[in-house]
Amino acid sequence: MKTGIVFKSTGSRYLVKTPQGEDVNCTIKGKLRLNDIKSTNPIAVGDQVSFSMEENEGIGVICEIKERKNYIIRKASNLSKQTHIIASNIDQALLLVTINYPITTPVFIDRFLASAEAYRIPVKIIFNKVDRYDQKHLYALSEMRSIYENIGYQTYTISAKMHDDLSIIVELLKDKVSVISGHSGVGKSTLINRIQPGLNLKVAEISDIHQSGKHTTTFAEMHQLNFGGYIIDTPGIRGYGLIDIEKEELYHYFKEFFEHSHNCQYSNCTHTHEPGCAVKQAVEDEAIALSRYQSYLSIFETKQEKYR
Ligand code: GDP
Ligand code: ZN
Repeated sequence: MKTGIVFKSTGSRYLVKTPQGEDVNCTIKGKLRLNDIKSTNPIAVGDQVSFSMEENEGIGVICEIKERKNYIIRKASNLSKQTHIIASNIDQALLLVTINYPITTPVFIDRFLASAEAYRIPVKIIFNKVDRYDQKHLYALSEMRSIYENIGYQTYTISAKMHDDLSIIVELLKDKVSVISGHSGVGKSTLINRIQPGLNLKVAEISDIHQSGKHTTTFAEMHQLNFGGYIIDTPGIRGYGLIDIEKEELYHYFKEFFEHSHNCQYSNCTHTHEPGCAVKQAVEDEAIALSRYQSYLSIFETKQEKYR
């Protein structure tokens, strides 16, 4: 029996790399497919698997998946409740955002952060295109940075295009399994090409879950970085939506809300309209940033409509 990590999945064939660096094409044992009934695909990029070699064929047969420390999913289709696992065992997500050109809104950031909290994936926020910002943008940048730093997210400011030294990003990625996300046009390709020319990922736009319905059947792929570490590319995937979170538990994924929520008058407080809400009080006291609370309300409301 050999072990390895799934680097590429095409639905029925899997490329597995062994710790020795050997590439093995694998299929899966029929029985495994049945184990994970909620998911359309039993094996995802990032999975650690055991496999045995088929006699004479040079093909491996995956017979076991190690427990995943986390994974990201999407709905298999708009109508179905089935899910499709995009990737697993992710160490971190780098969220690339821009104050302008294009504008990344706080609600976009906050929705992403809440999803990542739910998936238990640490996020680092990278503000790009700092070379293009005027005084007004720079002020907004420092405001945003302090909001997210205060909650406990590390933030960085770069110019993927103009800065000679991007070693800060190399350090972040080194020896980790990462996904890089952000709106179209924020500079994901530019950044990746700067740190490893020739890698040429088809990085996806991670957008609003409500724009869903354009799922394409492309598959994730893991790429090795020459300085150590891996990037998981998720082409054509438009959202790692908050699809399995009930609206009543949304506040669990707004890190800084949770501690206040214990002091709400009602134990089932949704922190939207209830009297004696400690979260709303914290917003008033500026212990919680207004923009974060507004994002919460906006996500809460859209979830409510969806589930009615
Ligand atoms: P992606 O859609 O996120 O992959 O974004 P791209 O990497 O394609 O970048 C979109 C545009 O922004 C391109 O014209 C890049 O040259 C430009 N761009 C990327 N990073 C920077 C930056 O730091 N500063 C400036 N001024 N332009 C940038
Ligand atoms: Zn409350």
